[in-house]
Amino acid sequence: MEKVHFCNTSLGKKLIMKKKSGHFRWIVPTILVLVVGLLLHYRLSKAVCREFVFAAFHTECKVTVWGGSKREFDAMQKDILGAIQELHAYFNLYDPESELSLLNASAHKKPYSCCNTLWECILDAREGWHITDGAFDPTIGPLMKLWGYHNKRDTLPTEQEIQEALSKVGFDKVVLNEENRTVSFQRPGMALDLGGIAKGYACKVASSIVQAHDFDRYLLDFGGNLCLSEKPIPGREAFEVGIRDPQNAKKIITTVSVRGVTVATSGNYERSRVIEGRKVGHIMDPRTGMPCDFLPSATAICKNPTLADILSTAIFVGGEPLARKLAKDGHRFLLVTENGLIRIPDDD
Ligand code: ADP
Ligand code: MG
Repeated sequence: MEKVHFCNTSLGKKLIMKKKSGHFRWIVPTILVLVVGLLLHYRLSKAVCREFVFAAFHTECKVTVWGGSKREFDAMQKDILGAIQELHAYFNLYDPESELSLLNASAHKKPYSCCNTLWECILDAREGWHITDGAFDPTIGPLMKLWGYHNKRDTLPTEQEIQEALSKVGFDKVVLNEENRTVSFQRPGMALDLGGIAKGYACKVASSIVQAHDFDRYLLDFGGNLCLSEKPIPGREAFEVGIRDPQNAKKIITTVSVRGVTVATSGNYERSRVIEGRKVGHIMDPRTGMPCDFLPSATAICKNPTLADILSTAIFVGGEPLARKLAKDGHRFLLVTENGLIRIPDDD
């Protein structure tokens, strides 16, 4: 094309004309793209931010979205509240009539036939137990009871009581019949506790409702489980998530720049008991029957919200060695230890 500029033949003129119209063909769309881009940027940076807060799973849950209409937002809010209330009602161990309480009360005597939601969640929990080598184990129900979580107690449990409770713990003692969707316990006194997965599972359900209502920029905060859309806050490159200092609620220990993932944190700083002067955390080691207190906090960053919740609880139990083993498929971990912060993988 460069040659055409120096050509004075009629063919050359035609070619010059062609080149000019060629320019024209590029300039107009380029300007258009720029204008549309600027308008879009302006619209996005002005995108309305709406949020609603509600209580579920004994914690505060918040849904924030950017853009969209008020009408769509109201419809989405209604759907999420309905779905989460239903989940809460299924998993609530403080209600003796909840689906999970009914299962726990009868699965030893005869196979308990689960509703679809509970069944799906139990399958996810089994997968979690499997991949974490049992550090995540939803059968810790008897240990939660023993350590004062469902039964108040003033004295620390004896070694014999711990061993007795441990004999009722272990997902290998749960029989799942895939065909009939039933759950049976091999020992009396066994109990499932889905507290380590419920909020992640709820994030998964809620995020699909948000997306079904055409919101593509959102942030769900379900008590320490932050589910973030692939598209970030308007005008930003990513979501900046602060990881709290477990010793000081007002201090942020580090921040991570993320999108399209769930950031789940497990720690003992929000839920714990004191028995005979000893702080008893709410995450149990299914191998020893003791409450875990090796780590101040463990954060898992994964694409799948349910998995993020499972892995944060599991890493709280299994610590750095388990985090190193599970750091694949894009899963990342942040461990707050007595000696400082550990990022896994290291190059993160
Ligand atoms: P939080 O609920 O505070 O966000 P987690 O997600 O780590 O923290 O879940 C802790 C809850 O998980 C406990 O309250 C209990 O219901 C349950 N849990 C405790 N220990 C385990 C364990 N080893 N495996 C699976 N679930 C557990
Ligand atoms: Mg968890």
